[in-house]
Order: sequence, then structure tokens, then C-alpha cells
Amino acid sequence: MKITTTVAETRALVRELRAGKRTVGLVPTMGALHAGHLSLVRAARAGCDAVAVSIFVNPTQFGPNEDFTRYPRTWEADCALLEQEHVDLLFAPSAAEVYPVGASTFIEVAGVSDRLDGASRPGHFRGVATVVAKLFHIIAPNKAYFGQKDAVQVAVLRKMVRNLNFDLELVVCPIVRDPDGLALSSRNRYLTSEERKRALVLSRALRWVEDGAARGTMDAGQLIRGALAVCSEEPDVRVDYCKVVDPDTLEDVSDISAGALAAIAAFVGTTRLIDNVLLPSSANR
Ligand code: AMP
Repeated sequence: MKITTTVAETRALVRELRAGKRTVGLVPTMGALHAGHLSLVRAARAGCDAVAVSIFVNPTQFGPNEDFTRYPRTWEADCALLEQEHVDLLFAPSAAEVYPVGASTFIEVAGVSDRLDGASRPGHFRGVATVVAKLFHIIAPNKAYFGQKDAVQVAVLRKMVRNLNFDLELVVCPIVRDPDGLALSSRNRYLTSEERKRALVLSRALRWVEDGAARGTMDAGQLIRGALAVCSEEPDVRVDYCKVVDPDTLEDVSDISAGALAAIAAFVGTTRLIDNVLLPSSANR
């Protein structure tokens, strides 16, 4: 695995990886890698000739009172995991490399960026879209891999790729969970063992929604009320939002017959966790 830290050396290496029309898959991450990230790397390995991973804790996607400085950084372990997955290129730039002094160009995907997590984290998706657009320009992958775990990010980036004519395929991979249902997240490291138990209420609430939908409840309001009732079993978990929306526009839907995204965000202690489930349309149920 080659490790690069500058845009110039990354471009040079990507040119080599592309030689002979080989395809390149990109997996953008913020490091602190877990099995969810590795599922994206494996999908890229299966779908492309060469795999590039980026590790960059992107300052512009953190709010002033968020966890940028204490976000977990596990460089040695990350490198070892990516070596094992036979990753070809690891791009790990500094903040100064990505945002040189005077950088003042940002990507704003209006509408979707202000919904769900975007409403709770103003400016977050402006930072995400900007850094991902930069990675797309630097690496020019044929395919880029993202997790369904971050459903709003998927909606924002799908729209960005469409609107800005990026010539690549965006591949979305399913959520990887621990056996007890907790969606894997780098932020799970913040949880005490007691909080981790409480955090299971997110996936439990979504399972309730999934079961309700499978049994034929199409009324989104009823599904949300049920999910919130499940959440109230853990009074120390503070729900930020619990919504049933159109997966592309992220606008609320009242009826899930055509398919929908059920998404939840909640604070467990000071840790903000997110989870979601895609509800199939009744035709595909
Ligand atoms: P992050 O390092 O949190 O920015 O995540 C990097 C990529 O991994 C994003 O596309 C995430 O959606 C994806 N990801 C994070 N957690 C999971 C998970 N539990 N299952 C699948 N993909 C995930």
C-alpha cells in the first residue's frame, strides 16, 4: 500500500494505477476504521481494479461545539487494516494540504443539506460536499463507495454528482451492525458500557418501524409515534429527530407505500448517534 499526503503525489500515483484502463474505486473515510468501513473497501476491491482510501478528519464539517479535536485518530491500526485489505493507495492529507491559506470555494447542495442532520448540524453538509468534491477531483475515481449509515450524506452526494456532472458511479453499501443491532460508528468508542446498552434503543425503534411496515402499517405518523414510544423506554436517550422521509428529497412523507427512509438521531450521554432503515415500496414487499 502506497501512502500519500499531497495532492501532487496522489495524482501521480493514480495515473500509474489507471495505466492500461484499470478502474479505480475510492472509499473516503475519517479513519478510526471499523468493519463498516472495511465493507466499503471490500466492495471497492470487488468492483474495481485498484482501491484508493482517504483518511481525513475534515475540519469544515464539524460545528464549533462538535467533537473535531477529540474525534478518534487511530492511524497505526487503520494502516494495518488497510494493508490487510490490499488497498493500493491511502491518501491522508493534512488540513493545510486540503484547505491552503485563502481557500474560499465551497459546495452547497441546497435543500437536502438542510434536512435531518443538516437541520441539527448547520454547515455540516457544506463541509462534506466540499471535501468529497475535492477528493473526486484529485483521485477521479470510476466508482466511489459510501455507507447507507449516513443516509443524508448519500442524498446530498447523489445530488451533487448529478448536478455537477461528476463522471463516476456512486455505490451505496448496507449498514454494518454489531450482532446486537448497534450500527457500527467511529463515535461508538465514546460510549461507556452503560451508554452502549442504552444506544441499542435506536436500532430497536427502527426495527419496530420495519416490523410495523412489514405488517402493513403505511401511515408514517403512526410508525413515528411507535418508534418514539420505544425510545421513551430509555429516558436518558434524547431523540434529536425521528422521521420518515423520501430517501432522495428527504422531505417528510405521510404514507410509505411508495417506499421511504426511516431515520433517527439521538444523544446518548453527549454522543450523537444516527441510524436508519430503508422501507421498501409495497410493490417490493
Ligand atoms: P466516516 O469515517 O464516519 O466518515 O465514514 C466513512 C464511510 O463509511 C461513510 O461512507 C460512512 O457512511 C461509512 N460507514 C460508517 N459506518 C458504517 C456502517 N456501520 N456500515 C456501513 N458503512 C458505514
